[in-house]
Amino acid sequence: MSNGSCLCGDVAFEITGPVEQMGHCHCSMCRKFHGSAFATFGVVAPSDFRWLRGGGGESGEGGEGKVVHYPSSASGWRNFCGRCGAATPGLPPNGPFALVPMGAVAEDPGSRPVLHFFVGSKAPWHSIVDDLPQHDAWPPEFGDDAVAVERPVRTAATPGATGGSCLCGAVTFEYDGQPERMLNCHCSRCRRAMGAAYATMVMVRHDVFRWLSGQEQIVNYKMPEAKVKGTAFCRTCGSQVPRRRDESAMQIPAGCLDDDPGARPSLNIFTDSKAAWSALDANLPGFPDAPG
Ligand SMILES: [Zn+2]
Ligand SMILES: [Zn+2]
Ligand SMILES: [Zn+2]
Repeated sequence: MSNGSCLCGDVAFEITGPVEQMGHCHCSMCRKFHGSAFATFGVVAPSDFRWLRGGGGESGEGGEGKVVHYPSSASGWRNFCGRCGAATPGLPPNGPFALVPMGAVAEDPGSRPVLHFFVGSKAPWHSIVDDLPQHDAWPPEFGDDAVAVERPVRTAATPGATGGSCLCGAVTFEYDGQPERMLNCHCSRCRRAMGAAYATMVMVRHDVFRWLSGQEQIVNYKMPEAKVKGTAFCRTCGSQVPRRRDESAMQIPAGCLDDDPGARPSLNIFTDSKAAWSALDANLPGFPDAPG
């Protein structure tokens, strides 16, 4: 059995059966929504999935309804916690399965990812470091009529700047110059916040960063027990968006970038907290916890 939750804990669930067809999706919509390099989902039989807290909002079937449902395309949807913005599972009414963002799962589910899909849309700053089969779009077993859904890439308003946006397009921003730092964080808080294998963060100085639109759409959530850890997300689509980390720095979830930042992740931190099913880029220096 595995348990899972969002970052703030309003939404929690348990899985009492096997997690199947674990796969990494590199599509631009997953990147934007999760704010990460890619999203990892697992498939669970509805009879093996149970909300412990906060579920039910996405289908209107009752419950406390802390889950916000965003229809991201004609056939697609994204669920997130209305308080902290973390990706939460989806259990479509009468659906054949529950779709679980694996970053939200606390324990080792036992199963391991079996494939990468939408690798044709992979972020330019991300390198795949395992030997799993890769598909440019949907894997063939999803059928011929499975339509690829891609969001158009938005370009930065100022020539030479690096731009980014949320999935629904309400929140847009840009920054000048090269990032101060770009890193992968494998801590359990980042995994829960993004519902992904790990977070890739781009740090830029506050004075080179500009909001272009939608700042009033952003919900900020700060963990009460943490010094700085929190999240910022679009209230409509739940996408992770930049957040002011301290006096001088903006922290940008790399998945929301529309442009290639030029920089690449230069280190892995909190590798001791890495998800059991997540592959680590061994070419990068790693720190078991925070870098010294
Ligand atoms: Zn939450
Ligand atoms: Zn995807
Ligand atoms: Zn949005």
